[in-house]
Amino acid sequence: MATTRLSRRKFIGAASVGAMAIACDGRTGMSANITKNAGKPAILGGSPVRTKAFPRWPIWDRGAEAHVLSILRSGNWFRGRGDTVTQFEKAYAKLLGAKRALCTVNGTNSLLTAMHVLDIGVGDEVIVSPYTFIATYNVVLTSCALPVFADTDPETFQINPDKIEERITERTRAIMPVHILGLPANMDRIMAIAKKHNLVVIEDACQAWLAEWRGKKVGTIGNLGCFSFQNSKHLPAGEGGAVVGNDEELMDRAMSFHNCGRPYGSVKATSSYPILGTNRRMTEYQAAILLSQIKRLESDTKRRGENAQYLTSRIKDIPGIAVHKLYDGVTRCAYHLYPFRIIKEAFGGLSRDRFLKALRAEGIPCSPGYGPQYKDGLIEVALTSKNFTRSFPAKRLKQYRKELHYPDNDKLCKEAVWLSQTLLLGTKKDTDDIANAIIKIHENRDKLV
Ligand SMILES: *Cc1c(COP(=O)(O)O)cnc(C)c1O
Repeated sequence: MATTRLSRRKFIGAASVGAMAIACDGRTGMSANITKNAGKPAILGGSPVRTKAFPRWPIWDRGAEAHVLSILRSGNWFRGRGDTVTQFEKAYAKLLGAKRALCTVNGTNSLLTAMHVLDIGVGDEVIVSPYTFIATYNVVLTSCALPVFADTDPETFQINPDKIEERITERTRAIMPVHILGLPANMDRIMAIAKKHNLVVIEDACQAWLAEWRGKKVGTIGNLGCFSFQNSKHLPAGEGGAVVGNDEELMDRAMSFHNCGRPYGSVKATSSYPILGTNRRMTEYQAAILLSQIKRLESDTKRRGENAQYLTSRIKDIPGIAVHKLYDGVTRCAYHLYPFRIIKEAFGGLSRDRFLKALRAEGIPCSPGYGPQYKDGLIEVALTSKNFTRSFPAKRLKQYRKELHYPDNDKLCKEAVWLSQTLLLGTKKDTDDIANAIIKIHENRDKLV
């Protein structure tokens, strides 16, 4: 610190952080001495706990530039004229312990491809979690299928397995569990319900690269699993996605469908273009970016996991903070987001939104996460469209509207706080900044309400 020139204001901030780090060491838990070190909340004009930025995302490896450039210069940009996409598919399947992986243009279209090859669409019902990125809703709706929500378990942020069976009707064809935030859904329960009711399972693992359920990578447990390689994701290429599976015949059909219906493997041709298809192919240069990014995925995931665990150990006993719970079968999390809840009454009456503002002022970026999106106009627009009015009896749509209430999900949407994955990519000291800022807000809760 002596060699760094700090303004007085910054120095006081940094010094008090150091003092707090000692006062609330993970092994000793929260210390009663915090108050005198915590200082005035930044939102009330005090010094912020942190002024340094967290890592930016994505992180590019310059060592990969020669490979990307060689593809650009070759003019072989499409997968039919190179083997880079195939190489990445093999590497990704191997990493996940799956038989096959197929790259596509993005996560949304991976899910659409999985829906198509499993023959789920018009007039069918798919059980999904309401607590997910809007793409999960869109995939079901644009396939002219009805997304039937099963309420969220606010403690785990995942689909509540106890709420699935009551939503099954004679039209239900699939369950689409989303391993939201990179935390695994309860796959034992979901697979058992699917088996009992003869349903297929499409895993939306678009936030859960390398997350595990009983030692198995999520995305490889259901009939098919889908991943996203969009810019913000842990394995990014700007855009991109993959369908992963162990059923060779299904994967052959996915390959054929995504490539204009060209025959592939067990999908045989009787003429040149006999099979229904579309074009969802990934480019060679996207795959070259992914071959570079995949090198850091394991070590990044390890770091996020360690920092998340440490952060949990530091904030779990703060009254009014409900840390996320994991199901018994979870053996690894991806932590696309680190979630917890603010229980206002237990946090001295401080509202979640005021908490978010106070935490941001301390230099910790954070967000409230998803709102109750199923209440947005999107669903009603779909239900009144000609596709839906033709594909479902009016009686079913009426019943569906009546049942569109998810109180546990709505409660979660009011209590959640998210920290983005990049906040978990720093050092233990960076993670201490997060914990110290949260503790500081708690210590000053009376001044903040
Ligand atoms: C990102 C994401 C998707 C869609 O992936 P894109 O590559 O953006 O199309 C789907 N589901 C979830 C849960 C996601 O986070």
